[in-house]
Amino acid sequence: MKRTFASLADGREIVYYDESDHAEHVLVDPRDLPETTTRSEIRYDAALDEWVAMASHRQGRTHLPPSDECPLCPSTETRHTEIPSPSYDVVVFENRFPSFATSVADVTPLSTDAGPDLLVRQPGHGRCEVVCFTSDHSSSFSQLSPARVRTVIEAWVDRTIALAALPHVEQVFCFENRGEEIGVTLAHPHGQIYGYPFVTPRSRQMLDSARRYRERTWRNLFADLLAAEQADGSRIVTRSELWTAFVPAAARWPMEVHLYPNRHVADLPGLTDEERDDFAEIYLDVLRRFDALYESPMPYIAGWHQAPVRIDRDLAYLHLELFSVRRAAGKLKYLAGSESGMGAFINDVLPEQAAAMLREVRPPFELGRR
Ligand SMILES: [Zn+2]
Repeated sequence: MKRTFASLADGREIVYYDESDHAEHVLVDPRDLPETTTRSEIRYDAALDEWVAMASHRQGRTHLPPSDECPLCPSTETRHTEIPSPSYDVVVFENRFPSFATSVADVTPLSTDAGPDLLVRQPGHGRCEVVCFTSDHSSSFSQLSPARVRTVIEAWVDRTIALAALPHVEQVFCFENRGEEIGVTLAHPHGQIYGYPFVTPRSRQMLDSARRYRERTWRNLFADLLAAEQADGSRIVTRSELWTAFVPAAARWPMEVHLYPNRHVADLPGLTDEERDDFAEIYLDVLRRFDALYESPMPYIAGWHQAPVRIDRDLAYLHLELFSVRRAAGKLKYLAGSESGMGAFINDVLPEQAAAMLREVRPPFELGRR
């Protein structure tokens, strides 16, 4: 794999990841882009002990442009996009409308009359990047070749290391939102990478559970959960020597699959070459099953849970969580009163039933599993 670093017209970084060592790229962005100022900030919610990001400058971002105006397609002679080169395999660049950035405007403190720890705001330091999985606008992750997925994994690993080295970044999250139903604003196959200036609420809750479990048992919570699912077997979707894909016993979403490496690994850089190769195959298998369930492609969110940059690295266990809001053909699950108001999920589909559906479905084209 070959990496090529360049800058966009407004100074943002762009990195090409190519499968051929001979790939050449356009290193100069000919556009006349004004410098943007990122007015992102984080505010502390003392009631929940959580940070919330405010990014009002994102309201003006591109929303579902027609395919001939896609900013993620390669540039042509007549049209300049976010990617100056005429072709690419995988490319990563800083988001023009980020929720977090390395240089953000300073913020004045909120009124402290109420007490110094109650109304707190800070600049939204961090980083937001876009990852294009292919230059083919009408493709999808599930249609990538295993070799291309492998290149995407290398990009995730590389950016995890790069973002973790930035000041302020406490957690790196690689994820993909797919489908208009999820709120995707660009149809081109792409994902995102966030470098958060805090450990996210969900990760903190999971790591706190893992800490309590370890104090009780001296064992790793996630390793034991994986072993329990493997021993039970009724919710396994597919497994290989190195990975297991299962619907969790207490799934929240109508379709939800977790993919764990069978070996305890803290983060993406910790995966061996064999684990990366095998993930490409098993993940494509699961995604193709997702897409084959209903008459139209499944909207989904896929996100990597990996160890935070500085704390609780020994408690974490790398895994990917994939889930969909589709609960039946043409029907979506909405987060309503119980879920949005109270955080108490009610799932309409039994996890054992979801696992059976995913095991039985026949993907339209078979993947050459070894
Ligand atoms: Zn495109």
